[in-house]
Amino acid sequence: MERISILTIILVTVVLSFCLNKDIFAQPNLERISISERSDGKGFVIRNHLTATPDSFKITQPSSDLIQFMIYSDKLDAADFIKPDLPAAIRNIEYQKNDAGFGFDIFLEAGNYFRSSAYHDRNAKHILIGLERATKEVVDQITANSDFIYWYDYHQDSFAFDFRFSADDDAFIQMRNNNGFNVIVLDPGHGGHDPGAVNRSLGIREKDIALAVALKVGDYINEHMPDVKVVYTRKDDRFVELARRGKIASEANGDLFISIHVNSARSPQAHGAEIYFLGLARTASALEVMKRENSVIDLENGGGPMQLSEEELLIFELANAGNLAISERIAMMMEDQFRNRAQRRSRGVKQAGFMVLWNLPMPALLIELGFLTNTNEARYMASDYGQTILASAIFRAIRDFKQEYDRSSRQTNNRASND
Ligand SMILES: [Zn+2]
Repeated sequence: MERISILTIILVTVVLSFCLNKDIFAQPNLERISISERSDGKGFVIRNHLTATPDSFKITQPSSDLIQFMIYSDKLDAADFIKPDLPAAIRNIEYQKNDAGFGFDIFLEAGNYFRSSAYHDRNAKHILIGLERATKEVVDQITANSDFIYWYDYHQDSFAFDFRFSADDDAFIQMRNNNGFNVIVLDPGHGGHDPGAVNRSLGIREKDIALAVALKVGDYINEHMPDVKVVYTRKDDRFVELARRGKIASEANGDLFISIHVNSARSPQAHGAEIYFLGLARTASALEVMKRENSVIDLENGGGPMQLSEEELLIFELANAGNLAISERIAMMMEDQFRNRAQRRSRGVKQAGFMVLWNLPMPALLIELGFLTNTNEARYMASDYGQTILASAIFRAIRDFKQEYDRSSRQTNNRASND
């Protein structure tokens, strides 16, 4: 008995000293990050200066302007590491510690295409990220097969997803006509003297988030759907009357109008995205959101808020059944993107009488990205990372609908030519 105990102690001691030598019990520390240009000018090397080898790491490239890198190590200490100076090709690097280790979002300047890889430095415990210049086509192929890393998946207090999509996905699409689906109007809500919702303690304003996300959506469309034209109702921080926004969309012969907003609520717990198309508000909360977004009319005319009557909305619904069906279809696709790709809580597709959507001769949606009154969500929506994911969810829905539209147009044309 005694002999076994002694043997065990010796064995444990040997194993322990072996392990300590191998740094297995040493706490890895990320001391600093440095970036150097490759001597052949073909890219960059980002060096992560670690004091011990981490468990593992992963790199992904979900979008041409975003590379994500994760170092797995539950004991990784990176509290006060030194951040690098950035070369012109890299717009920003954001860092965040989470329950599984340390995550990076590397944002690239537009027009810079890099293939990324991550590997151990053979001589040190450092991990290197290689960025090698590549063509747009190569990067497009990589991003098509890469998914975003959702950092909040690595946080124990992550967001709740308590709502599952269950719409009739194969619903028949009533296409308006065969003129094509080629002009997208992006409408960032508010602007100028009208900040929209404001989170004063964080200093975050609805008008800024709406503009940043709209510009990103436009960039994605321009990059990946070159035959689609993007029109903005505003591209900077200026006030544009609601009626003027509709006029811009009509004059551009828009095929889809997307108004981008941010929600607020009395309860700081309320969170998630809501997607609206024009119609009778069928729930009390939809009515509340509608009243708030319509109240911008107050600022414009100094009068009482303009409301659409139930009769007006009913007549509109009847007269615009085709556009409403398409609006609802795209809203459903966007809902699916928000929930399943962007992993955001979605509060569903709703109808309400938004003035900005009124009398538009095209399918039209209004998106409330999330709640500024929810601290977590406000920070998320104000971050480059959050805006990239939200914009990409909107972009993917537009792209998916465009593909569906083009397919159904081809079928209609084939049928017509066979007759
Ligand atoms: Zn708004």
